[in-house]
Amino acid sequence: VAGEFELIQRFFTRRVTHTVLSVGDDGALLGPRAGMQLAVSTDMLVSGVHFLPDADPAALGWKALAVNLSDLAAMAAEPRWSLLAIALPEAKESWIEPFAEGFFACADAFGVDLVGGDTTRGPLAIAPTVIGEVPVGSAITRSGAQPGDDVWVSGTPGLAALALAALRGETDLSETARARCLAALEQPQPRVALGLALRGLAHAMIDVSDGLIADLGHIAERSGVSIELADELLPIEILEAATGAPGLARRCLLAGGDDYELAFTSAVDRRECIAGVGARLGVALARIGQVRSGPPAELRVVDRHGQSLPLAGRGYQHFVEE
Ligand code: ADP
Ligand code: MG
Repeated sequence: VAGEFELIQRFFTRRVTHTVLSVGDDGALLGPRAGMQLAVSTDMLVSGVHFLPDADPAALGWKALAVNLSDLAAMAAEPRWSLLAIALPEAKESWIEPFAEGFFACADAFGVDLVGGDTTRGPLAIAPTVIGEVPVGSAITRSGAQPGDDVWVSGTPGLAALALAALRGETDLSETARARCLAALEQPQPRVALGLALRGLAHAMIDVSDGLIADLGHIAERSGVSIELADELLPIEILEAATGAPGLARRCLLAGGDDYELAFTSAVDRRECIAGVGARLGVALARIGQVRSGPPAELRVVDRHGQSLPLAGRGYQHFVEE
């Protein structure tokens, strides 16, 4: 059985493309480019909490890095480096090898050097850290939403939650719909290009990891504004067509987590420009609502007459009992 250093050497040491000093020393040395700020984020995946213990290791390797890169995308930062802290119950190479392949597939797809980490024995947990660059003053935060802004979301939030519902036997999906939903759940595509393209356009941005309502709620809270989503603008057709159960489709769209789409706000006079970004990148962008001046931190979904509709759950929170 391989020891820790052999595992690191064999599976987690790869040629780097833009790093001064990488895996093998006490720390890595990074050389950020002139005029850049560093955006740093970490997101941990724990067996039994974020994934099932028998999850496919290659898919898990991809997802572990992808969900972290999604946070950089949401800040309009360009991914550059990552570290990987991992606890493994055993040094099982038939698991570690595909896991590392999945992780590096994602790293290669987004130009990320793996420059360090920590490898220990313990209950399976994966904690990547990612570092990106953003020109000074160009990062997009949760706190910049302004009254009057449009609210937008990319892609089809809810696909990952619909996959979970199907896996739990709560709905039947056609073969194509099932494949699409499972891909969203197992191999999320962080919206890095979109995040970069929204520099100077979006006022506030977040990635949808805990559900649209919950995550837009964070923008409302941090920006001190209220957000009104228009029910008839929500991109629900694909979900409804997939499951045939409108209630489930709506719950997945509003409260489902794990999608890693971007939600953002921007000025009304930028509508055409934003639509152009979506067309250029081939990413569906839906304008779903409006930022209002108050009450602060409030989030409502309204019908075409402006009447509030019931929300569909709160989104996932650790330590909170349903
Ligand atoms: P130290 O004892 O100085 O903390 P370690 O023995 O933990 O160093 O790690 C040795 C080297 O391997 C370091 O450069 C560390 O960053 C790197 N490393 C450890 N685990 C991983 C991993 N899973 N992926 C990438 N690099 C790793
Ligand atoms: Mg050391």
